[in-house]
Amino acid sequence: MQLAFIGTGYVGLVSGTCFAESGNRVTCIDIDAEKVKRLRDGIIPIYEPGLTELVLSNIQAERLTFTTDLAEGIAKAELIFIAVGTPQGDDGAADLSALWAVVDGIRRSAQEPKIVVVKSTVPVGTNSKLLARLNEGSKFAHESASNPEFLKEGYAVEDFMKPDRVVVGVRSKLAEQRLKKIHEPFLRTNHPFLVMSPESAEMTKYVANCMLATKISFINEMANLCERMHADINDVRIGIGHDSRIGFQFLFPGVGYGGSCFPKDIRAMIALARQHGVVPRILESVDDVNEDQKSRLFEKIREMAGTDLKGKTVALWGLSFKPRTDDIREAPSLVLIKQLLEAGASVRVHDPKSIQNVKAIFGDKIIYCDKAYGTVEGADVLAIVTEWQEFRNPDFDIIRKLMVGSIVVDGRNLYDPQTMASLGFHYASIGRATVGPA
Ligand code: NAD
Repeated sequence: MQLAFIGTGYVGLVSGTCFAESGNRVTCIDIDAEKVKRLRDGIIPIYEPGLTELVLSNIQAERLTFTTDLAEGIAKAELIFIAVGTPQGDDGAADLSALWAVVDGIRRSAQEPKIVVVKSTVPVGTNSKLLARLNEGSKFAHESASNPEFLKEGYAVEDFMKPDRVVVGVRSKLAEQRLKKIHEPFLRTNHPFLVMSPESAEMTKYVANCMLATKISFINEMANLCERMHADINDVRIGIGHDSRIGFQFLFPGVGYGGSCFPKDIRAMIALARQHGVVPRILESVDDVNEDQKSRLFEKIREMAGTDLKGKTVALWGLSFKPRTDDIREAPSLVLIKQLLEAGASVRVHDPKSIQNVKAIFGDKIIYCDKAYGTVEGADVLAIVTEWQEFRNPDFDIIRKLMVGSIVVDGRNLYDPQTMASLGFHYASIGRATVGPA
């Protein structure tokens, strides 16, 4: 099938490329001319495991092309997917300006009736507004559908190729059939293709993210309470996880969720609920707990290293909002760096993939290290912010020798407190007892 993807970010590039891999002819369209030029040259603007190889092989097979020209890009498309960003607006609600610009562009450029599929996460009711706007003064009867995306950054290709489920919100059999046909290669192991109304599909995406964010804020709140109660959140987590009604997934305590989706989607849902006269008490608490949680490491550093951090050096391991991505949008690391700088500390950072993105924000205010061990040289404190695999089993003798201090604050509970104490560290983590050298 001929497909067009408008918006070539994490979602548009991954899904467009995966559809090309299964034999479709895909045109990816973006207004960012520099990005399009680089993609044409085979330079992938984001880090996502497995993506580069797929993009290159599909460009070579002439199934995947890139353009900035909307009219040319959609001319032959049997389905046009919109995957532009829907960031948080000033009032907390989703900012749909990029989406509307695209819709107006499609209406102006289309030379035949089109099926426009919204992949971006949009407030409930957007699809029906989009249909009205698409057909306003148009000589064609265009159609719209919803196909929310559930991929996780860091596992985007894998998730797209093997989705737990595909959700589509449609108004016609034709849209349903076309969407089913292109998804069939990815659903061979009986994972469901769920057909519903566009409103229910839009709602499904938000409710999924709200549920996941709620689990994270819930376990973080319980972890903070465990610290006061002299209980260990890890034991508690395992104790509840074996209950099949609860399970283990998404119940790891940490420094709060970040990224391009959860924070903005929770706030968009809060705004949507308020607009419709519903007080979203749980969601507002989820957001509040998460914002507070992003300060936990800073609070722990001040408890252990003293409230005056002037002249102290803090090393950070991990900057991206989670491992296997270079995405730093709403990352807890940014909050910690800001707090440390305001407190007068010197900050040294390392991350396997996202240093360039962080440099674009903090410039020469902090020191960037390309090696994990180099980061801790001369540091009073080591803070673990993102649980990259390479931080899980480091050589603590080297770390102890390179640091001038002995404080490790672990926002991801990577290490065993007793072992850390026996190695001579003052060690704090989330929801577990803080220990000193044995
Ligand atoms: P992104 O910011 O990485 O990419 C958006 C792209 O759209 C950019 O390349 C931008 O240049 C392009 N764009 C903006 N305006 C345009 C226009 N008028 N015409 C053509 N291109 C335009 O965004 P993303 O992370 O891929 O997210 C896209 C949508 O998918 C959002 O609604 C997001 O909430 C949703 N989503 C994201 C994820 C994720 O993990 N990132 C997962 C599921 C859903």
